Amino acid sequence: MPPALASSRMSATPLSELTTLRLGGPAVLLVSIDSDDALLDAVRAADGDGEPLLLLAGGSNVVVADAGFSGTVVRVATRGVEGVRMADGRIRLDVAAGEDWDALVAACVADGLAGVEALSGIPGSVGATPIQNVGAYGQEVADVLIAVRALDRVRGELHDLETEECLFDYRSSVFKRDPGRWVVLGASFALEPTGISEPIRYAELAARLGVEVGERAPVGEVRDAVLALRRGKGMVLDPADPDTVSAGSFFTNPVLRARDFDAFAQRAAQRLGADARPPAWPVEPRAVKTSAAWLIERAGFHRGYGNPSGIAISTKHTLALTNRGAGTTTELVALAREIAAGVHEAFGVQLVPEPVFVGHSW
Ligand SMILES: Cc1cc2nc3c(=O)[nH]c(=O)nc-3n(C[C@H](O)[C@H](O)[C@H](O)COP(=O)(O)OP(=O)(O)OC[C@H]3O[C@@H](n4cnc5c(N)ncnc54)[C@H](O)[C@@H]3O)c2cc1C
Repeated sequence: MPPALASSRMSATPLSELTTLRLGGPAVLLVSIDSDDALLDAVRAADGDGEPLLLLAGGSNVVVADAGFSGTVVRVATRGVEGVRMADGRIRLDVAAGEDWDALVAACVADGLAGVEALSGIPGSVGATPIQNVGAYGQEVADVLIAVRALDRVRGELHDLETEECLFDYRSSVFKRDPGRWVVLGASFALEPTGISEPIRYAELAARLGVEVGERAPVGEVRDAVLALRRGKGMVLDPADPDTVSAGSFFTNPVLRARDFDAFAQRAAQRLGADARPPAWPVEPRAVKTSAAWLIERAGFHRGYGNPSGIAISTKHTLALTNRGAGTTTELVALAREIAAGVHEAFGVQLVPEPVFVGHSW
């Protein structure tokens, strides 16, 4: 084991202390690493020994088993932000994986850099943002990401992946499709130094700002509006708010082939009446995205549903499953399966969890 690891060896801390759901048993070994070289050494050492490895940063998108993780957990704690003006006038930021995402967004907004303002209030690290192409309120990191520096654990090589190579999609990327293969060391973003936001694409945000969809607003106002909307839904971490003890949205919005969407819409009309039109956002010529929250509510699962001292749906947001204090991962997965089965029975649509399962599977 490299000295950098040996010196930071920790006892069997439950991973619940490192996850926003406050769930998860211990790992065999837990190390925190603050330099790229030590991170690469740690990963290569674990791979060389055939030791299972989990990279963990903010712990805001993981569901860790009650039994924990039977391997090494490496906490990514690298730091560093460097900015340079590009030939086209945009500002390029090269950011270490372990930097806090929302702190970066706050600093960008304070400096009048546009492109990430609608992504305010999302917990976790910069290095995790490309994994599921983090998005909210009409923006996603793929819009501004220009490169990801990563280790390919299969080939043992370092790569600078350009945006096209990241194969970004809705809550997905090359990194999410091939779990564990890539270690993200840093990400580079290109931002406009205009102080004015990208066109607002999300109706709820536009209404809050008092502008039309497609109009722009000062980035500081957009950040404030997004934070206010998110707080109202329990989507900004707050130790005083039990509705924020979650992994964010537990299910992704289903993307259906057009003919499957039509069958689902017919079924919804039969069940709920002809006026019950499911939300529909065309995403490709023959695919439609619909709302997981709509499905869950119409299948009969209301906010607060569940165990008021254990695992329950957030009282503010149908898509978030929360740990009200005495919950377990087993209970969380049981509730998630009950919801998914209820939605499938009612509408024939399969819900897919958004967070990454660790030490167990969906
Ligand atoms: C209250 C709340 C609100 C949220 N809102 C949103 C939202 O609006 N939009 C959205 O998209 N997400 C949202 N999320 C989910 C989550 O915040 C994001 O997915 C975030 O990017 C996860 O970052 P993290 O550092 O916590 O990742 P972790 O939970 O630590 O890890 C998540 C996954 O990424 C992997 N990973 C982490 N770091 C690296 C690395 N350096 N290299 C390779 N793999 C790595 C891990 O192994 C794991 O598989 C929300 C979560 C919460 C709790």
